[in-house]
This record gives sequence, structure tokens and C-alpha cells, in this order.
Amino acid sequence: MKAHTLETQATITPEKALEILKEGNTRFVNNLKANRDLLAQVNDTRAGQWPFAVVLSCIDSRTSAELIFDQGLGDIFSVRIAGNFVNQDILGSMEFGCNVAGSKLVVVLGHTKCGALKGGLDAAAIEGLGMDNLNHLVGHFDPIIKNIMKDGEERNSKNTDLLERLNHHNILNAIEHIRKESSTLRKMEEEGKIKIVGANYDVETGSVVFL
Ligand SMILES: [Zn+2]
Repeated sequence: MKAHTLETQATITPEKALEILKEGNTRFVNNLKANRDLLAQVNDTRAGQWPFAVVLSCIDSRTSAELIFDQGLGDIFSVRIAGNFVNQDILGSMEFGCNVAGSKLVVVLGHTKCGALKGGLDAAAIEGLGMDNLNHLVGHFDPIIKNIMKDGEERNSKNTDLLERLNHHNILNAIEHIRKESSTLRKMEEEGKIKIVGANYDVETGSVVFL
């Protein structure tokens, strides 16, 4: 498999980009990795890069976008932060990926058993560890947690039903923020130049389900 070029990138529609990622994940779960010479791809991409998608995923060591979508060098922009949420700098990275570098798809990829989201549910315990920056990070999920908790429901990471709901809503929340806070990406989506989609990766099976 060859690295993308300006020409191949130009032929990819947002729908096609989604299809490429779905096919890549199917290869991944079936252990049918595409034949790819990464060193040759270093050479192919020495003059530039033409990735077709931007994937926002968690820093979790099991969720590397290139691996789980079976992609090579120069194929996707990979944005990673614990808990796969967006902030202004991440939106800037996405705007670069789509509006400057020509990508056709933005994927917000959550995953099961996310430690960052568990931390959000166990925020009080995290606070006890005295790490201000980590407190700040897990605090990001607080408004979502408060929104989705049922009356009398227990707030901790052992509540797997709540954790699953939080993961789902955290993905939707990130997509909403992208559309609300980036007029560039919103406009590109409205004009059909890009698609913005959510997906969930199952750390037990390796499969990605698009929402
Ligand atoms: Zn995670």
C-alpha cells in the first residue's frame, strides 16, 4: 500500500474516507494487515503529506489510531489527549488538518474502559493525589457526568453503566463543541467538504463502532 499523494487525497470524499477507516479496522480485527513498506513511505512522504482524516483519540496505549485503522505514514492526522475531548488548541489542529492540509473527515474516537473517564467519575480520589494538572483534566468531564447521572446513582468508576454512558456522551459532547466552537469546521461540514463523526473502540475486541 502506497502513501497518499495530492492526487489520491483529492479523489477522496468524506464518505470514502469513512469507508477507508472502516475497512482498515476490519483488516485489523481479522489480523489481515495491509502490506505496507513504512520505510518506503518515509521516502514517499519526504516532500509533503496528504492525510485524508483527522482522528482525535485518547492517549490510552491501546488506542493508537494508525494501528487500529491499519493506516501508514502520511494517512491520518492523529490528535491525542486523555479522554479525547477538545480545547482551543485541538480545534486549531483539526482546522489545520482539514482546511489547510485537505483532510476530509474528523473522527472523535472514544473507547471502552477509559482511565481518564474513570478518573472523572472518581474525581474526589484523584484530588487526594494532589496532582493539580490531572485534577484539571478530569474536571473537564464533570458537567457531562452531572448531566447524565440518574437520581440516587452511585458516582464512581465501578459503576460500569455510568462509565459507558459517560463515554458515549463525551464523544457526542466533543462533536458538539467542534461544530459550535470552530466556525471553519462547521462551515466545511455544511458545505459537504468534510464529515464529523463519532466512534467507539472496544479494547476487548479491537473493533470500532461508528456512532
Ligand atoms: Zn482513555
